[in-house]
Amino acid sequence: SMDQTFYGSDFGQLSSQDPEIAAVLLSELERVRGGLQLIASENLTSPAVLAAMGSTLSNKYAEGYPGRRYYGGCSEVDKAESIGIERAKALFGAEHANLQPHSGANANMAVYGAFLQPGDTFLAMSLPHGGHLTHGSKVSFSGKWFNAVHYGVDKETENIDYAQVAELARTHRPKLIVAGGSAIPRLIDFEFFRNLADEVGAIFWVDAAHFIGLVAGKAIPSPVPYADVVTFTTHKVLRGPRGGMLVCKQEHAAKLDKAVFPMMQGGPLMHVIAAKAVNLLECSQPAYEAYAKQVIANAQQLATSLGEKGIRPITGGTDTHLSLHDLQGIGVTGKDAEARADAAGIVLNKNAIPFDPQPPNTASGIRVGTPAVTTQGMGTAEMVVIADLIDRAVTRTDGDPDHPVAKEIRAEVSDLVGRFPAYPRLSS
Ligand code: PLP
Repeated sequence: SMDQTFYGSDFGQLSSQDPEIAAVLLSELERVRGGLQLIASENLTSPAVLAAMGSTLSNKYAEGYPGRRYYGGCSEVDKAESIGIERAKALFGAEHANLQPHSGANANMAVYGAFLQPGDTFLAMSLPHGGHLTHGSKVSFSGKWFNAVHYGVDKETENIDYAQVAELARTHRPKLIVAGGSAIPRLIDFEFFRNLADEVGAIFWVDAAHFIGLVAGKAIPSPVPYADVVTFTTHKVLRGPRGGMLVCKQEHAAKLDKAVFPMMQGGPLMHVIAAKAVNLLECSQPAYEAYAKQVIANAQQLATSLGEKGIRPITGGTDTHLSLHDLQGIGVTGKDAEARADAAGIVLNKNAIPFDPQPPNTASGIRVGTPAVTTQGMGTAEMVVIADLIDRAVTRTDGDPDHPVAKEIRAEVSDLVGRFPAYPRLSS
């Protein structure tokens, strides 16, 4: 229609002009609909968010911030970004928000840019114990340009070793301490980190990429009152467009804004910023709060049910949207489990577990998350079924899609996802 071509995406035009790429868009939708999506860092964003991302706001150069741009013609995109900033501040109870980071990694880069000089020391969780590449891994800018000191988890509890965190902070006197990561199933004690940062004179940063959606949905405690700065991605449990964001105390606002632009980025992605604003409005609704609580209830059920199959949950369970499982008890590697699940229509990822004897590309664990299946409307009863499907895929198939048990599981997956379709209103 006129409206579609004028404001944004027009799939009809794409498919006549470029059938090759149009076919990929459709087959990706079929892939998502046809399988069980258990990647903990993925979700199914709304058609409204997709509409904003596929809009003409993509065209606008808007270096700078609302009301102080380096380009003319920014009156309309200014509105979108200002609305988004106000929504973020209200939703998270934050003094300041920046919606421009292109990704979680870019938001993190801005934190280093704002607070550290090359060679400075910071304290973070180690990647093999659940941290993130951008927290000082040797292959990341963060580990190449700064001196990263890493804490891990306690061998018994498999939870953050707070005594080690305190000892390392007192010994190394880091300028910056970060909490958060990619494979942490439990709540983090933000008050402990705040007090420790104050004691050693460090900035306290929370990388909430994974769990910020649960904070937005008021399902777990917020790091915002405790941290100097909180960075996050907008595409995980939060269910927004692919991107990054940060919120901070007013005293750091100017420094962090300058670190996002012009230090680390150029022109902001105004179509994605508009989509972030759309998502923030969605997250302030009661339906989203119910969703966030269900994500956790589902993750807890899935972790428990997998545990009952001998697929042991690290830390004994989860308080969040994800659980990490040790496969050593069933004698399967993470790599094989991922391949076997995939061939059976179940998408999850291998993951290192703390003190993993295997190299990272083999790994002894899997990570599973419930953001996407919960968006599809599944509840705890379905999680019991999913645990059974995972168990059979991992223990009774071999990664060959033609294995009879893999075929049997795929048929059951197909039946389950058919009852909870992804994007029920999009045609293909
Ligand atoms: N920080 C954490 C804790 C993450 O889990 C991720 C994403 O995996 C990131 C940062 C990086 O986000 P992005 O992939 O958007 O750069």
